[in-house]
Amino acid sequence: MKKNLDKKNQSLFKKFIAYYKPHKKTFALDMLCSFIFSVVGLLYPMLTTQILDVYIPNGMIKEILIMSAVLLAVYFLRAGMNYYINYYGHVMGVKMQSKMRSDLFSHLEKLPYSFYDNNETGQLMARMTNDLFNVSELAHHGPENLFITSFMTVSAFIYLCTISWKLSLIIFAFLPFLILIAWASRKNMTKAFQKSREEIGNINACLENSIAGIRVTKAYANAEHEQERFEKSNMGFVKARSKAYKAMGTFSSSMNFVTSVYNVIVLLAGGLFCIYDSANFDYVDLVAFMLSINLFISPIQTLITFFEQLQDGITGFKRFDDIMVTPVEEDKEDALEVERFEGEIAFENVTFGYDERTVIDDISLTIPKGKTYALVGASGGGKTTLCHLVPKFYPVENGDIKIDGTSIKDITNRSLRQNIGIVQQDVFLFTGTFRDNIAYGDINATEEQIVEAAKKANIHDYIVSLEKGYDTEIGERGIKLSGGQKQRLSIARVFLKNPSILILDEATSALDNATETLIQNALSDLCVGRTTIVVAHRLSTIRNADKIVVINKGKIEESGSHDELIALDGIYKKLHDAQYKDGNLDGLIDCN
Ligand code: ADP
Ligand code: MG
Repeated sequence: MKKNLDKKNQSLFKKFIAYYKPHKKTFALDMLCSFIFSVVGLLYPMLTTQILDVYIPNGMIKEILIMSAVLLAVYFLRAGMNYYINYYGHVMGVKMQSKMRSDLFSHLEKLPYSFYDNNETGQLMARMTNDLFNVSELAHHGPENLFITSFMTVSAFIYLCTISWKLSLIIFAFLPFLILIAWASRKNMTKAFQKSREEIGNINACLENSIAGIRVTKAYANAEHEQERFEKSNMGFVKARSKAYKAMGTFSSSMNFVTSVYNVIVLLAGGLFCIYDSANFDYVDLVAFMLSINLFISPIQTLITFFEQLQDGITGFKRFDDIMVTPVEEDKEDALEVERFEGEIAFENVTFGYDERTVIDDISLTIPKGKTYALVGASGGGKTTLCHLVPKFYPVENGDIKIDGTSIKDITNRSLRQNIGIVQQDVFLFTGTFRDNIAYGDINATEEQIVEAAKKANIHDYIVSLEKGYDTEIGERGIKLSGGQKQRLSIARVFLKNPSILILDEATSALDNATETLIQNALSDLCVGRTTIVVAHRLSTIRNADKIVVINKGKIEESGSHDELIALDGIYKKLHDAQYKDGNLDGLIDCN
C-alpha cells in the first residue's frame, strides 16, 4: 500500500517536472542567477572584515576605494540577477500555469456528462484559478528558494565557523527555538489566511447567486433578505480577515523578536569572548559576526515559507491531477467516422442506471428512418435518459443502440453527435450575438445559411426588425430574449446543423399555448426528412406521430398510434382524458 502511494506521488512529481521541460533554459539561468545572487550576498561581510582587519589599521586608502568599487560593481551585477529572477522567473511560472490551465480546459471539454453531474461549477472554477496559481508559485519560487536558502544557510554557517566556531555553535544551538516558533506561528497564520480565502469564496458564491437570481429576488421583493444574507458573509469575511491579521501580527512580531534575541546573544556571548578569549576573538570578529548573522537567519525564514509553498503547491497540483486522471470520453480504436446517417434507430434490450438504481429497464424499440416516434409518460419515467443514450452522453450498460445497423459504440463521438440535433426545454445560449448563437450549429456556415436557418425557425423577421439585426447582443445566456425567442434561436441552430436524427425533449413545455403554436410550425418543418424522437408533455402536440410509446418506470408500457392507444384504454387514455378535460388541445406537431 505504502509502496503504491509512493509510486503515485512519484509519478505526480514526474508530471510536475514535465511542465518545466519547455523552459529548461530559463530555469537553468534562473538557478544560476540565484546561485550568483547568494554568493554575492556573502561578499559584503567578508570584504568588510577584510577592510576592518587589514586595510583600516594599515591606512590602505587605495585598497579601500578599490574594494568599494568592486562591491559596487558586484551589487550592480546582483541587481541584474534580481531582475532576471523576478521577471523571467515569474514569467516562466505564469507560462507553466497557463499550460496547465489549457491542459485542464481541454481535459474538461472531453470529460463525460457524468463528471459534470457530480462536480460543481464553482469548485471547477477554483481549480482553474486558485489551485493553479499556487502550483505556479511553487514552480517558480520553490526550487529557487530551496536552492538559495540551503546554500546560504550552509555557507553562512561555515563562514561563521571560520570566524569563531564556538560562537557559531552557541548560535546554532538556539536554532531549533527559532524554527519552532516560526513554524508554529506561521502555521497558525496560514490556517487563518486559508479561512479568509474561504470566506472570500463565500462572498463570491453569495454574490454570484444573488446577481444571477436578482430577477427572482425582485419578483419576490426580497431585496432586504438578500442584503441580510450578503451582510452575513461580508461580516464573516471581516471576522476571518481580522483573525488572519492577528496571526500575521503574532508571526511578524515574534519573528522580529527572535531575530533580535539573536543579536543580543551574539553581542553578549561575543562580548564575553572578546574579554575572556581575546587571543582568538577580537572586536573585528564580533562585527563580522554581527554582519553575517542575518545571512544565516533570513534564509531560515525563507525556508519556512518554502515549506508552506510546497504544501499549497502540492495540494493544488494534486487537485489538478485528480481531474486530469479522470478518464475522458474516448472512441474505440477502429471507430467509424460516419458522414451522414440514414437514420434508423434500434434500441436492443437497453438497460441503464445512473447509479445502482435502474432507470431504463430492458427497452427494445426500432424507429425506422424518417419516422417520428413520441415518448410520453409520467415525469421521472426515463424519457430524457433514453434520449441521452443515443448521442452517448452516457454509455449504455446492457444491450445496445444501433443506428443504421451499426452499434453507436463503433461510431466516433464526433460524427455521431454531428448527426443528431437536440432541442430541449432548457435552452442554453452563449453570451454573444444572434449570429454567433445560430452559427454554433455549424461554425463554418455562411451568412446566407445562417439567415436561411433563422427564416426556417421563424426568428428572422424578429432579428431584422432590430436595429443591429444579426449583430444584436442577446445578453448573458440570452436574457434579453423571451422564452419563445430563445427556443426559436435554438431551433435555428439545429436547422443549420441539419442532422439526420432529431430529438425534441419537451421543447415547448415551458412555453404558453400561443407561443407554442408559433414554434410548432418551425418544429414541424424541422422534423421533415429526419428520424425524430419527440418527448412531449402536452399530448396534443404528438397526436400525429407515427407511433406513440408510453414509458413508465423505465419500461415500455404501451405503444401504437393515437387511435390505437385510445382504443386500448390504458395509461395513454388516462393521460389523454386528464388533459382533454383542461381543453388543452391546440398546437400540433405535424411531421408528415
Ligand atoms: P423523464 O425525462 O421521463 O422525466 P428522466 O430520464 O429525466 O425522466 O429521469 C429518470 C430518473 O433518473 C429520475 O428518477 C431522475 O431522478 C433520475 N436522473 C435523471 N438524471 C440523473 C442524473 N444525471 N443522475 C442521477 N439520476 C438522474
Ligand atoms: Mg425529461
